[in-house]
Amino acid sequence: MSTLTAESFALHELEREEPRTSDGGGLTLAMKVANVWEGLLAAGAAGCPVCGARMVRAAGAGRCASCGSGLS
Ligand SMILES: [Zn+2]
Repeated sequence: MSTLTAESFALHELEREEPRTSDGGGLTLAMKVANVWEGLLAAGAAGCPVCGARMVRAAGAGRCASCGSGLS
């Protein structure tokens, strides 16, 4: 239940950023964020999709301690 909610929020947030992130990296940003959420929900930590540093789960949201990006 919480997984579906988190992913829905993440994907919704990404819709406006998608055009400038299609750099041919193989994974769309939406797919990267979905992978990050899988890690956050399963292990409590994952790689930040923005800077690649460690992102941790706090209060139901993902937060990067390096660049300050958040997933909610
Ligand atoms: Zn970051």
